[in-house]
Amino acid sequence: MPALIHDLAEKLFIDGDWRRGEGERIPVENPATGEVLGHIAAATPAEIDAAVAAARKAFRIWSRLAPAERAKALRRLGDAITTEADAMARTMTQEQGKPLNEARGEILKLAEACHFYAEEAVRIHGEIVPNTTTDIDSLVVREPIGVVGAITPWNYPAELIGWKLCGALAAGCTIVIKPAELTPFTALAIARMAEKAKIPAGVVNVLTGPGAKVGQALVEHPGVDKIAFTGSSAVGLRIQQSCPTIKRLSLELGGNCPLIVTASADLDAAVKGAVRRSFRNMGQICIAINRIYVARPIAAEFVKRLCEAADKLVIANGIDKPDADVGAMASAEPLAKTKEHLADALAKGAKLVAGGGAPRGEAFARGHFFRPTVVSDCTHAMKVMTEETFGPLVGVMAFDGLDEAIELANDTPYGLASYVYAKDMDEIRYLSGRLDYGNVAVNNVDAGIMNAPYGGRKQSGVGYEHGREGMLEYLNFKHVRIRYD
Ligand code: ADP
Repeated sequence: MPALIHDLAEKLFIDGDWRRGEGERIPVENPATGEVLGHIAAATPAEIDAAVAAARKAFRIWSRLAPAERAKALRRLGDAITTEADAMARTMTQEQGKPLNEARGEILKLAEACHFYAEEAVRIHGEIVPNTTTDIDSLVVREPIGVVGAITPWNYPAELIGWKLCGALAAGCTIVIKPAELTPFTALAIARMAEKAKIPAGVVNVLTGPGAKVGQALVEHPGVDKIAFTGSSAVGLRIQQSCPTIKRLSLELGGNCPLIVTASADLDAAVKGAVRRSFRNMGQICIAINRIYVARPIAAEFVKRLCEAADKLVIANGIDKPDADVGAMASAEPLAKTKEHLADALAKGAKLVAGGGAPRGEAFARGHFFRPTVVSDCTHAMKVMTEETFGPLVGVMAFDGLDEAIELANDTPYGLASYVYAKDMDEIRYLSGRLDYGNVAVNNVDAGIMNAPYGGRKQSGVGYEHGREGMLEYLNFKHVRIRYD
């Protein structure tokens, strides 16, 4: 068993203590090899209560610390994570399947989030607003919400915790984190870094276990004031519907993200962007490009170049080949859905133009591998164009005019990210103004950057992460009206 995982196996982090969990043991597998890496303990109701109680107790102190002190603690956390980036990245690759260099990049992004929110912590400003008479002051101040329950998925096991953790801690909230069952050790490693950074006991707690039990218990717990969730739209809706009391919610849910390539686009740049955002992390990203609409005159050439680029991607076990383009999928489930969407598209008349099956070779025999796959001649009768695949499969369809492209792109219950490649400024303005998405990336595919709000519309969720807005999610406004007689 890898050393860090050995250290963290079967543990929970509650009130600054590493407890051997008392609940049922759940195996965690390496998706590239099928090997069991170690076990986690499903948190019991008593352990869940203890974590929430610890977070409540710590909130009294943490929320009253000078913001500059919280900033210092976040900087220490960022530094500790940077120092341990290699070991944390190995842990992530072992449990999640992405290539080691990608995992390391993600860990460094987590450190970046710590440093970014360290700077935001000291900028929680209020306002004095005018009143009817001059002997009254209305102060609008911001106060931390309280205890946050963070429920996170397995595709970005560090970053998706980081945005919640850092926004919450900067604001003065404390947190109980429930990571995905597939990737718990990255979360426990983050708790280890919080301990190293001397974040006070109880401010950060990590509970492992099944979502339907441990996650749901946090949703229902009267001691949790806010739920910050990233995951599927189905579970997000369940969480919204099952809160027994009023709680603040931020939900970052599924996507079904379109790319529009117009006739004015730089074709090579568009292909490069499409490959990166369709297949990175094996397409297991909520902002992955699922479907591509290309102007008819350039469609054949675009598909040809896209397939050439997809075929060149290097697939490998991410530990053996750290700089591989793609690794294993995180589990059998997203792989099965990818195959189902592919079969559905082919049955309904799509053409398979790249990929379409598992790579050959002994190295791939036991892992969840699949070649980056492109289908052309798609229609909206196919699942690949209308449902989130969450795998290395992208569908392509030709369009005849910008309005048709917009109509097709917006023909979805989701509204997370959308992408455009075009050189013509009028086209860029027309499309970006009409795409009904929280994020529109034009001539690039980086929809989420640390400094700008990131969030979805429609069934893709509510609330924002990243940027100032990502911290506001953890603050309440208070209006204090003072009359001076
Ligand atoms: P994904 O498969 O993309 O990770 P899920 O929505 O299934 O998406 O899971 C995201 C997170 O939500 C995981 O940590 C999971 O354990 C948790 N979860 C699943 N079901 C529930 C539930 N009923 N209540 C709270 N959390 C849940």
